[in-house]
Amino acid sequence: MTAGGALTRPPSARDVLVLAQIVDLVRGRGSATRSVLETLTGLGRTVVNDRLREGVDLGVLAEVDPLATGSRGRPSRAVRLRTEAGLVLSASLGAVSLHAAVSDLAGLELGHRFERIDVRDAPERVLSRVEALFDELLAAAPDRPVWGVAIGLPGPVDVATGRMVAPPTMPGWDGADVRSRFAARHGAPAWVDNEVNLMALGEWERGTPRERRDLLFVKVATGIGSALVTGGRLHRGDSGAAGDIGHVRVTDDPSAVCRCGKTGCLEAVAGGWALVRRLTGDARAGRSPALAERLTATGRITGEDIGAATAAGDEAARAAVARAGRVTGTAVAGIVNFANPGTLVLGGGVLRSGPLFFAEFERAVAEGTIELAARALTVRTSSLDPREGTTGGALLVADAVFRPSVLPLWLASGSPCGAAAQVQTAHLQAAR
Ligand SMILES: [Zn+2]
Repeated sequence: MTAGGALTRPPSARDVLVLAQIVDLVRGRGSATRSVLETLTGLGRTVVNDRLREGVDLGVLAEVDPLATGSRGRPSRAVRLRTEAGLVLSASLGAVSLHAAVSDLAGLELGHRFERIDVRDAPERVLSRVEALFDELLAAAPDRPVWGVAIGLPGPVDVATGRMVAPPTMPGWDGADVRSRFAARHGAPAWVDNEVNLMALGEWERGTPRERRDLLFVKVATGIGSALVTGGRLHRGDSGAAGDIGHVRVTDDPSAVCRCGKTGCLEAVAGGWALVRRLTGDARAGRSPALAERLTATGRITGEDIGAATAAGDEAARAAVARAGRVTGTAVAGIVNFANPGTLVLGGGVLRSGPLFFAEFERAVAEGTIELAARALTVRTSSLDPREGTTGGALLVADAVFRPSVLPLWLASGSPCGAAAQVQTAHLQAAR
């Protein structure tokens, strides 16, 4: 295997552009034969062969072993992306959960770690845990360079700067420069995005069934968020705030005080923390025998307790979960009418509370959507749970570095690490 940057004569700028296009075609297909590439590009055999030789010499492409493809007689002469050339680190942070993964350049996870966190802690405390998990993952992974890092955070992220902007429930994170920290630590380009954006991307690209229709992902856990993939791209909006539905107002009830300081937010009725608040009150008032028992035994009620009480038929728990599902479904129906996705996916910790929430959610979506938006809509639970975010993060990095407009920035040096800042900027401009 040839290492990167071993060319005797560097390819011209035009050759690099053609090679970038070829790499994109190969990547989209997993592998491609020379004759397929000639057809798709309209280029002659000699030009295609020259560019492929450069791609192999630079370490981004590799010849497919003809024996591995099982072809007989004349070898198929196919090439593939060298997905083993580098590693991608990705982390997905919820309010109380941290998932971290190391993947290859195809987004295939080579290792995964999970731990509980409280994201309201100072960024230093939380991010040092992300770094510790990344170090553990790298120590167990093949010895390859890190080509990129993606971090998903549970709040509004300005994707251009990689900083959170006034996150309602994480005040200490306002303006924290998460991207520079990881870019500097790993000497590689880094991206910071909203966690649900990464989850939507992961589910759109790798979820089952793989429908490739516009996809609306709704995460219901401690908090609530959503993200939309339309035409194969994340809809981030003008500054990255798109999809932040947790603090949409859904009720005039003055008792629905939200942790953001306002009242009547979706989260304040249907978020995991609001269910805990409501059912703790029910347990204290004697309306929920099952949860009163938990409260006495442990001093607090958890999401798992609510799931167990719901499964056991506790009326107060069932009523609260059903209401949360209905209110969320009604709010989401409005988005379905507006955005008209083909697939609506529910994910997050709520999936571990039993089937009641999803049943009520699905019914409220059906009741609240117009015929044309509803008739071909698939509503399902997340198929990658709980790995949507780390998968989406790895794919975001791979898509960014191999994008035909970005690849020429680093191709001659064999990896994007030497051009990290330019790669980040170019991808952000292309993603707008
Ligand atoms: Zn709120």
